[in-house]
Amino acid sequence: MPELTLPLVAGSSLAVRDTYDNVDPADGSVLGQVARGGAEEVDEAVRAAAQAQPAWAATPTEQRADALTRLADLVDRDREQLAHTESQDTGKPLSQARADATVAARYFRYYGRVVEAAYGDTIPLGPDTHVYTRREPYGVVGSIVAWNYPLQLASRSIAAATATGNAVVLKPADETPRTAVALAALAMEAGLPAGVVNVVPGLGAEAGAALTAHPQVAHLGFVGSTQTGRQVAHAAAERVVPAVLELGGKSAHVVFPDADLDAAAEAITRSILQNAGQTCSAGSRLVVHEDIRAELVAAVAERFGATTLGPGLDDPDLGPLVSRRQQDRVRGYVEGVASGEVVVGGTAPPQDGDLAAGAFWLPTLVDGVDPRDPIAQEEVFGPVLVTLPFEDEAQALELANGTAYGLIAALWTRDLSRAHRLAGALEAGQVFVNTFGAGGGVELPFGGVKASGYGREKGVEALAGFTHTKTVVVRLG
Ligand code: NAD
Repeated sequence: MPELTLPLVAGSSLAVRDTYDNVDPADGSVLGQVARGGAEEVDEAVRAAAQAQPAWAATPTEQRADALTRLADLVDRDREQLAHTESQDTGKPLSQARADATVAARYFRYYGRVVEAAYGDTIPLGPDTHVYTRREPYGVVGSIVAWNYPLQLASRSIAAATATGNAVVLKPADETPRTAVALAALAMEAGLPAGVVNVVPGLGAEAGAALTAHPQVAHLGFVGSTQTGRQVAHAAAERVVPAVLELGGKSAHVVFPDADLDAAAEAITRSILQNAGQTCSAGSRLVVHEDIRAELVAAVAERFGATTLGPGLDDPDLGPLVSRRQQDRVRGYVEGVASGEVVVGGTAPPQDGDLAAGAFWLPTLVDGVDPRDPIAQEEVFGPVLVTLPFEDEAQALELANGTAYGLIAALWTRDLSRAHRLAGALEAGQVFVNTFGAGGGVELPFGGVKASGYGREKGVEALAGFTHTKTVVVRLG
């Protein structure tokens, strides 16, 4: 049994009052117990953060940057262990968990570097006045993250928030607390003062809600469902604190007949099967021109059919979904589809086979669905791709923009004018042309429009998100 996951609050003397099971999604077994933090643990963590933050903010930027660089080195040092834990907790293939750990280290290294080049402006009001702006941290920031990329999500908010002089209290997802707790321990080993990074595991309705309601939390970051995001936004509005919401999407690949279909088929497959489709930016809709629809559907279906499934630690192409609950959700969408044709998949693996005890789902392609069908509108969060055929550019755009979401989109065409025209017209926070994703995406501002949320994480832009501008006006002479 792995050790108990304790609330990581600096100097905490709180006894663990309650626990819940940490379940392995590959076979349903119990991996261990997680401390069930609640309002009291959150309060203690926020107090520790509030106490540590002023001195941390006053620490010279170079020293904060050095500490983040050391943390990056420690994440690299422990990469294999972190990847193993992440793979077991989430079910994701080991090589994907290794890539996540690499990206996590990159966040600390990147923000350690760029924060030293972040400064305010001077504003030329006239010879008698000196005006300048300062970027100031909010103080204690609360971060609530999802179970799909636990280590990456924790790292991206902790790195940018602490680089800019904030202290963080992070609530990991109920299902996947272990790498976030390990990260908090590494932060202390790297020399970040006690109280600057705090992790309180627990359930959303308890620890999560307590964090959003805490009067000393001055900024809220959230990654998860639109439904919970709305609650977080309400809590932020009650206390008039800013919130950054990253709420997933229903992202489209738009493929024209002049595209490199091989490259498109490869990227489309990868973008919906990575992490078993449980990626906010998954390419879950294929908006495809009628002339190439049959060819592209066959190419993607062939790749789906050749996919290997198994426990994440065996490093297959596709691991289980994060939980039985998530599997039921995917089943509900696929079995409820009232239009189109299931070309491949459509079920869980055979119930008399090796994978029956896990939360697996076969890669599924449903061709030609009605764009109004829930499977074409809502976030399924599983390895499920739907195709929506079009005949001209206007229809392609209408389909691509035709959901409540607006996270990312991809265009596949060799026509440069069309690519730029549509990149401007697509409702999304990121648009990729003849590719999908780019490295770990650390440098690229990320976030959505419409129901995908607001605010941006990643890139230099996140430094602005975790600070507010103070304008100082000095009368000269
Ligand atoms: P969720 O929104 O309920 O959970 C996300 C995080 O919010 C978790 O840490 C959870 O503990 C916390 N939370 C839950 N209730 C809360 C509350 N009242 N106050 C504060 N925090 C709270 O997501 P879920 O139920 O685990 O997943 C459901 C669906 O959400 C998925 O099927 C998927 O469509 C979507 N989702 C999106 C993303 C994304 O990357 N944008 C990630 C995970 C899930």
